[in-house]
Amino acid sequence: ASDLLNQTLDYEHTLTALAEMAVPTLAGQVVIDLVEDDGSLRCVAAAHSDPAKSEYLRDLRRRYPPTAEDHPVQRAVRTGEAVYLANVQEHVDEMAHDADHASEIRALANTSGIVVPLIARGRTLGAIQLGTVAPQPRFTQSDVELAIELARRASLALDNARLYGEAQARAHAAAALEFVDDGVFLLDGDDVIRLWNPAAAQTFRVKAAKALGRPAGELIRDWNAVQDRIRIASEPSSGVGRAQTVPVDVQGEERWLSISAVRFPGGTVYAFRDLTEERAVDQLKSDFVATVSHELRTPLAAIYGAALTLQRNDVRLEASQRDGLLDVVASEADRLARIVNDILWASRLDSGQMGVSIESCDAAKLARQVVEALRPHVQDAVELVVDAPEGLPEVAADPDKLRQVLTNLVDNGVKYSPDGGRVLVAVTHTANRIRFRIEDKGLGIPAAEHDRIFEKFFRLDPSMTRGVGGTGLGLYICRELVYRMHGRISVASDGRSGSTFTVELPVASS
Ligand code: ADP
Repeated sequence: ASDLLNQTLDYEHTLTALAEMAVPTLAGQVVIDLVEDDGSLRCVAAAHSDPAKSEYLRDLRRRYPPTAEDHPVQRAVRTGEAVYLANVQEHVDEMAHDADHASEIRALANTSGIVVPLIARGRTLGAIQLGTVAPQPRFTQSDVELAIELARRASLALDNARLYGEAQARAHAAAALEFVDDGVFLLDGDDVIRLWNPAAAQTFRVKAAKALGRPAGELIRDWNAVQDRIRIASEPSSGVGRAQTVPVDVQGEERWLSISAVRFPGGTVYAFRDLTEERAVDQLKSDFVATVSHELRTPLAAIYGAALTLQRNDVRLEASQRDGLLDVVASEADRLARIVNDILWASRLDSGQMGVSIESCDAAKLARQVVEALRPHVQDAVELVVDAPEGLPEVAADPDKLRQVLTNLVDNGVKYSPDGGRVLVAVTHTANRIRFRIEDKGLGIPAAEHDRIFEKFFRLDPSMTRGVGGTGLGLYICRELVYRMHGRISVASDGRSGSTFTVELPVASS
């Protein structure tokens, strides 16, 4: 039995082999039950000297588990002591669920019986039940000793297998935690960090080697205040610990974490997802709605005002005044159309419905068309200039998309030059690229924001734009369109004396 028990770590398989080995040398029938996590017993092995009955024994156990309080198996498990039955037939009523069960037990015709508990490190793991069947002699006290010894060895093997299994499961769990995107950390009863996965290391910018063994309060700023806001569940999926979104200060930067926590005997495990980016997008979106409503309302109010004045019968308007008001209607309607246009372009880009069809285009002609279309809307203080030499090679682009890009850039150049100045559109070419340079003498863009201005909805702080309106979509649209045409877009500005945007697109192959 010892040899057998030491052979493998697959304990269910081993216990079955053990039961089979004990029959018929030691007993006429053997049944082994293990205690489950919920305290119930599960039959894992059964053997009978009549091999045809082994399966029947298992089935009987499944139908009638040994749940009766006085069942010898229950007694052995409860007391941790071996139970010896000199005459099994006298104890049938203690085991039987009902009359049918009782008659099935009787039919098995066990004469004597022994039940020995399986115990390791103070924990009861299950029980081995042995029975004699005539013509086998009944068990004696020395058989009880032997059964106890057998159970001791089986318990040891079982415990080893379980420990090994748990260690393996733990190793797998730890390995899995290395790869999940969610941050996971574990604090023991003293709030000392015992586990710190790479996602946690990334969010808190502290490596595991530095975090392990230190109190959470030393690594996470205001940990006590943060902890107070997290509802801790006492068991997983109880719903009590539903994730809370809380702000956490990471090296002076605010990060929004959606954290849930579960307490277990070894401490508390915290799992979180970093929602800072999502929150920022949400914030941008609500800012966007506010900005757009404002942006739409201003031209609408101007149009409405002009229309009301034109309608009045009591005031005689000069022809020039009428023309002026009609100009307001036309130019404000144009502004409205451009805002709505930007929103449509952005939504088409987002939904992936934006196809580009690249063809050979005359870059200089396109630049001039764009500038001429904008010229009527430009304030007098702004001088719009196109510098495009004759004989440039054609550019490979989608003309509608390129027109949109240039329109947005020139429009921005004009818009962000509230004091006027020259806005230049220069077209040049290198070996295989056509370069559009849109240069203004306006407010400029601080270097720190050069990347972000191309993000959707992003707008510079109003204090830097002297209240100039916009949706924050124009440059995003430019960047997306230029990428789709296999080009590059960039900005240069010292943040004070104007900005220069550069768009480069491939020369069309002739
Ligand atoms: P908007 O509709 O706000 O103009 P854009 O996406 O076109 O949106 O531009 C994003 C932000 O970049 C603007 O809000 C503005 O702050 C800044 N910006 C863009 N172009 C210029 C420029 N030529 N000069 C100064 N700032 C600019």
